Amino acid sequence: MAKKYKVEHDRESCIGCGACCAVCPAFWEMAGDGKSKYKGKAEIEEGELKCNKEAADSCPVNVIHITDIEAKKKII
Ligand code: SF4
Repeated sequence: MAKKYKVEHDRESCIGCGACCAVCPAFWEMAGDGKSKYKGKAEIEEGELKCNKEAADSCPVNVIHITDIEAKKKII
């Protein structure tokens, strides 16, 4: 079975820097309240991981988290 990953965004702590949207616009956009918004599904496939991992890596306040669902392992 294909691996699945859970994407979580702690919006409350987002400082609205826009980095995630710049590196991964397919999944992240800026919302009207000045914070970013995740527009993907709660669970993503392996092929969607790279973009979201780069978004998480780019976040200066580490509020984007990705978990390997099957392994129950937090990637970031
Ligand atoms: S990179 Fe982090 S702080 Fe910046 S907009 Fe995205 S989630 Fe918010």
